Amino acid sequence: MSTSQSASFKDIFSSFLLLELWKGLAVTGRHFFARKITVQYPEERTPLSPRFRGLHALRRYENGEERCIACKLCEAVCPAMAITIEAGQREDGSRRTTRYDIDLTKCIFCGFCEESCPVDSIVETHIFDYHGEKPGDLYYTKDMLLAIGDRYEQEIAANKEADAKYR
Ligand code: SF4
Ligand code: SF4
Repeated sequence: MSTSQSASFKDIFSSFLLLELWKGLAVTGRHFFARKITVQYPEERTPLSPRFRGLHALRRYENGEERCIACKLCEAVCPAMAITIEAGQREDGSRRTTRYDIDLTKCIFCGFCEESCPVDSIVETHIFDYHGEKPGDLYYTKDMLLAIGDRYEQEIAANKEADAKYR
């Protein structure tokens, strides 16, 4: 018997016994009884690393003073040129930003801004489920970033503390 004849005989045999179908059903059966790993998002969430790099925030000190000293290191280090800062001097002589914007449509979430900040002001939070419906919606201003920082300060501080021992 030639090789091609034996191959076609094998095909007929396996078609007749529905071998492919049984193989498929075996896979289905295996998964049917296996532990399910589907997560019912958003009610259920998977754990996130304290280093997770999500939506940005600007933080304040406990007395309410904003941490940022307008050194512009984050702006300089940002590879996507997503950060725009303008700075000015306050009446008390301290230097602060008069404008701090992040264009999240440019951001690549590399975390360099957070790493470069000498006062732990700009951070990337654990928030990943946000969206915009038009480009302008993902342009975050200083007030928006400070508001995120105010709202999530507890989680941000806890994540910073959890990660501190690895730095
Ligand atoms: S995460 Fe990276 S790309 Fe995004 S703003 Fe910070 S430095 Fe720029
Ligand atoms: S966020 Fe940090 S790095 Fe950026 S300008 Fe303010 S103090 Fe400097």
